[in-house]
Amino acid sequence: MAPKPRPGILDIKPYRGGVSDAPGFEAPTKLSSNENCFGCSPAAIAAVHKMENSLERYPDGGVQRLRDALAQKHNLAAEQIVCGCGSDEILQLLGKAYLREGDEVILAQNGFLSYKLIAMQNGAAPVAAPENNMCIDAAAFLSVVSPRTRMVFLANPNNPTGFLMPGAEVRKLHAGLPGDVLLIIDGAYAEYVREDDYEGGFALVEKHDNVVATRTFSKSYGLAGLRVGWAYCPDQIAAVLNRVRSPFNVNSVAQTAALAALNDEEFLSRSTGHVAHWAPWLEAEISKIGLKTYPSAGNFVLIGMETPERADEVEQFLTARGLILRGMRGFGLPGFLRMTIGTEAENRAVLAALSAFMAQ
Ligand SMILES: *Cc1c(COP(=O)(O)O)cnc(C)c1O
Repeated sequence: MAPKPRPGILDIKPYRGGVSDAPGFEAPTKLSSNENCFGCSPAAIAAVHKMENSLERYPDGGVQRLRDALAQKHNLAAEQIVCGCGSDEILQLLGKAYLREGDEVILAQNGFLSYKLIAMQNGAAPVAAPENNMCIDAAAFLSVVSPRTRMVFLANPNNPTGFLMPGAEVRKLHAGLPGDVLLIIDGAYAEYVREDDYEGGFALVEKHDNVVATRTFSKSYGLAGLRVGWAYCPDQIAAVLNRVRSPFNVNSVAQTAALAALNDEEFLSRSTGHVAHWAPWLEAEISKIGLKTYPSAGNFVLIGMETPERADEVEQFLTARGLILRGMRGFGLPGFLRMTIGTEAENRAVLAALSAFMAQ
């Protein structure tokens, strides 16, 4: 008899990243994975080049310099920071350490896909909190809490809806959860948030022992390929993550690049400033041509087509012009496309192609 995985594993649909090729185009415009349209910090590239002669060395398993720099920049305690191979690894580790067979994991109806996979990988059941027109509040999350609830995932801002939950509402959600339920606030797009009232979770982590806040270098810092993310955790949770992570989970090139990127404030503000300008522009221009958009606090916009067939058609129409957006079928939103904010030229090209489609 062949080896068998744990029950439930084979029910998981493997995660598929954004498409990266368009037949006939050598360098298509890839706006399918919320990557940084400016690349990454030139200082990070320079730092990586300098490492050529030290690749035989193991990385610092404790990621000390990067954690110290993060602590200083955000005014946090370095001992409570745990780094990972992307923030996705941190989320995976939390699932591995805190979930048991039969538990329930709450996520927003259109929450980030990973959360569902993490629940299922650990024998837990994903439970969707209902959204209202792509928005969600604390009451919606709290309405699905049960005695089996172990974990609540909140991406703030959320991907793919772009929805930002106001700070007061995040605190209300936390206040309504039993103390033994872990609230994970995923701030993958935190640097793009323009509202003053942002609750990224750091303050909650300082005051409570059931909150974890995660961040990543993949989006606003443009280092998705190197895989660096981190979490700010209560002491006890950091102690758990440091037991379940692999000893060298963040490689040396990634640590060096992330440290250099963190110190390049100019690149970060150029990236976030660009998105602050172009996201509202795209939302406005795309609505003008008769398509539905939703206010986004991230570096992407969700575009509603009337039907799933039309969304497929538009996706193909754009791909045929070398413009790759993300079809949302895999996210359970078959009538939608998600577009990463590109350079000015890329944004204008997508708008022109969408207009041409609508005019035909
Ligand atoms: C992109 C993204 C992540 C994952 O980022 P990595 O750090 O690259 O693993 C996590 N959460 C959300 C909501 C994202 O969109």
